[in-house]
Amino acid sequence: MNVISRHTWEEGDQAQLLAAIDRWLERDVKPVVKEHDHADTWPAEIVKQMQEFGLFGATVGAEYGGLGLPATAYAEIVMRISAVWMAITGIFNSHLMLALAIEKFGTPAQRRRWLPSLASGEIRGGLALTEPDAGTDLQAIRMTARRDGDSYVINGTKTWISNGIEGSCFALLVKTDPQAQPRHKGMSLFIAPKQAGFRVGRKLEKLGYKSIDSAELIFEDYRIPADHLIGEVEGQGFYQATGGLELGRINVAARGVGIAEGALRLATDYAQIRQTFGKPIAEHQAIALKLGEMATRARAARLLTLDAAATFDRGERCDMEAGMAKYFASEAALENATESLRIHGAYGYSKEYDIERLYRDAPLTCIGEGTNEMQRLIIARQWLKRSAGA
Ligand SMILES: Cc1cc2nc3c(=O)[nH]c(=O)nc-3n(C[C@H](O)[C@H](O)[C@H](O)COP(=O)(O)OP(=O)(O)OC[C@H]3O[C@@H](n4cnc5c(N)ncnc54)[C@H](O)[C@@H]3O)c2cc1C
Repeated sequence: MNVISRHTWEEGDQAQLLAAIDRWLERDVKPVVKEHDHADTWPAEIVKQMQEFGLFGATVGAEYGGLGLPATAYAEIVMRISAVWMAITGIFNSHLMLALAIEKFGTPAQRRRWLPSLASGEIRGGLALTEPDAGTDLQAIRMTARRDGDSYVINGTKTWISNGIEGSCFALLVKTDPQAQPRHKGMSLFIAPKQAGFRVGRKLEKLGYKSIDSAELIFEDYRIPADHLIGEVEGQGFYQATGGLELGRINVAARGVGIAEGALRLATDYAQIRQTFGKPIAEHQAIALKLGEMATRARAARLLTLDAAATFDRGERCDMEAGMAKYFASEAALENATESLRIHGAYGYSKEYDIERLYRDAPLTCIGEGTNEMQRLIIARQWLKRSAGA
């Protein structure tokens, strides 16, 4: 069972929230997305509006001031925003992974202390796991935390951390026992606010996923009180850091669905306006076949994602379902973005049209929350296990 108790959302509440998000996307996001994306500027006004919607507490329990949304509603929000601008979902998605780690694994005192200001967006942050020499193989991280009286002293470097510059607090994965075997037994997860000893190394330049900051974070004799260790027990960090992966994968799947649907929408509109040989290109069979395939992929991705989210909401194990959704939807995003760009002809290659942004943003969904190479291995492992028990 999911340990987090959730406020019961009526269908009417959800419909109202989704309608408000749709209006906001039309009125406030669409007019500024191109300018922000091309200049790679942080969208302060949009972040403030997302905060007003309560998105920084979207999945946090109502008792801590969050919206306590079920995963199905959360996924629907992420899909809709991603169809317009996927990058801004990262600003609250990564933050919610930090909140989830505290809500799921923190002590009652840690939940009371941190969750209300995380849910309101007063404190914003993310999840700091990856290091220069450790991404997929997370257990190879080198960052260490040494106990010193009532504190821990942390040294090392993290990289590729979303919200690294604008955020002020991170869930930080470290080794408290670098010699431990198996390696995961020596790993711990800390709540790490920005203060002396914690600085940003550099902002990382990217192909897409602009405007959200990705950064290298450097920790030099960074000292924090022992009560910042999540759960206040050493050796649980690997389990805690990966314990939010089901929701994390549903979230990346929803981003993929958004891009796949957004790319389809752009292609559909364009194919009915653009004429060649005396008719709209949508009426040429080669283009119609592409649209048929794209529509099928987008729908399949949506259904897989909602199925994984519904399984999560029922409190059932859904690692395989979430993995399938993440894998399929992110590949659908990449394929639909590519096909949509081709349907746009030369204009797909122009910075004046939106499809080039979706085309640059899509590949990230194949990398984040477990690469798609790993995803298929994880799905296969689960599949074999469940098949053996059937
Ligand atoms: C824009 C962006 C934002 C990010 N945000 C965050 C963040 O907020 N926090 C954070 O901690 N990290 C973040 N990351 C890092 C991300 O999680 C890692 O990039 C990802 O886990 C892959 O790690 P890697 O890049 O080190 O690739 P590697 O682990 O070096 O993998 C390289 C290639 O080898 C494959 N591979 C590796 N091992 C195996 C295996 N056993 N079998 C088969 N194939 C294998 C991989 O699939 C990949 O194709 C972000 C990355 C990007 C690009």
